[in-house]
Amino acid sequence: MKTNMSNDLQYKVIVGLEIHVQLCTKTKMFCGCAVEFGAEPNSRVCPVCLGMPGVLPVMNKQAVEYAIMVALALNCEVPKFTKWDRKSYYYPDLPKNYQISQYDLPLGSNGFIEIPFESGDTKKIRIIRAHLEEDAGKNLHTAGNFSQVDLNRTGTPLLEIVTEPDMNSGAEARALAVELQRMVRFLGVSVADMQKGHMRFEPNINLIVTKDGAEHKTPIVEVKNLNSFRALERSIDYEVQRQLDEFLDTGRTMEMGNKSTRGWDGEKEVTVLQREKEEAHDYRYFPEPDLVPVEVTGKWLDDIRSQLCELPIKKQIRFVTEYGLSDYDAGVLTAERPTAEFFELAVKAGGDPKRVCNLVTQDYQKLANEKGCSIADLGVSPEKIAQLATMITGGVVSATASSTIAAISVADLDKTPEEIAAKHNLIQKSDAGELEQIVDQVLKENAKAVEDVASGSKKSNKARGFLLGQVMQKTKGQANPKVVSEILDKKLKSFSS
Ligand code: ZN
Ligand code: MN
Repeated sequence: MKTNMSNDLQYKVIVGLEIHVQLCTKTKMFCGCAVEFGAEPNSRVCPVCLGMPGVLPVMNKQAVEYAIMVALALNCEVPKFTKWDRKSYYYPDLPKNYQISQYDLPLGSNGFIEIPFESGDTKKIRIIRAHLEEDAGKNLHTAGNFSQVDLNRTGTPLLEIVTEPDMNSGAEARALAVELQRMVRFLGVSVADMQKGHMRFEPNINLIVTKDGAEHKTPIVEVKNLNSFRALERSIDYEVQRQLDEFLDTGRTMEMGNKSTRGWDGEKEVTVLQREKEEAHDYRYFPEPDLVPVEVTGKWLDDIRSQLCELPIKKQIRFVTEYGLSDYDAGVLTAERPTAEFFELAVKAGGDPKRVCNLVTQDYQKLANEKGCSIADLGVSPEKIAQLATMITGGVVSATASSTIAAISVADLDKTPEEIAAKHNLIQKSDAGELEQIVDQVLKENAKAVEDVASGSKKSNKARGFLLGQVMQKTKGQANPKVVSEILDKKLKSFSS
């Protein structure tokens, strides 16, 4: 509940989400055309997806399995029997004049998804339904005084997920969208690349305003076709303020104004009215006569269930409890499945979790970014990273040297971190006897500094730092500073007493 400037006015934000996710099957939902982004316009089409008369669709089993995987990951009930329905509407990007979709028997219903908060807590958002349908084509309005239509996208398997209005801010809607992206990527059912339109969002937003003790609901606004996390969050935040202003200005409530749809102007960062009154659409839904219904047998469902992996949110929570990582570190590691699995292999190979996490999320992530690949694809084995982590923990190499070793390990895949450290003189000198001799020599050569330390005056700390620096210089930076520091303190103590 948020309180406005005046004390007698409070409001609560109510957000529900409809999300469309393109599934990454090789071929389209009901024909054999390739699902491929960026191909020459209208080059990935056939009579079926062009909606020619007399053609017959054939269901893509892989798409159904992917959709059921998501439904299971969303804790949905999956019906034993489902079917396809025609949703009729006319638009240039829909050559058949109907979309094959699912009406009353979606592949998943009554589920929920957990979304993470920065605090480490989670919130459950209920899922009303998840159903499978086919995507439409794309209208282009880029050239001159006419429009073009590209039907390559027509017929791409599209999963539509609808949530209950359980979110209470733009940030929560964003958190759900990010979590869903991470989930479908972990499951391997969608590339979920925003820039390619693989995920599109349509939030429903309104407010419950409490004014002078009475509750008022503002009319619901649906923002259409958002294709970035930023647009999703910003458009909701914008709507909250706009609806509050409008309510205070006009007193309009849900009962008076019907649902309206608005678009998002990303440049001006405002929503723009599209349709004032959502006309009661008559999509004339009826069972698709050209496709047989789908029977989901127990055996098939078990097979699909066995392909599920540990979900990213579960992994993130487990990394905190099992390895003592911070929620932030666990979140970074579980952003992508290959990174999370690589981390865990390196820990299983004996690396200290926190050290491995630092190497993976910092040094190796940077190297992977430079190469434009995942950490797992760098070619460095988890065992080597475990070895490097153990070398740092044991003081064999410094944290600085370990970055150098990491970089060389990617360039020279045949060498182990130990071999690299030896070859490039990166092993720290920790031998007390040898270091003691060097310390003695430095103290002899710098009597003035020793005197300053012994005096205990303001100069003392600076002089001690100087002596430490001299030792490091004499060892070309290879001395273990911790060991040097201990020897130095012991020696200097004998001077001051
Ligand atoms: Zn086709
Ligand atoms: Mn849809």
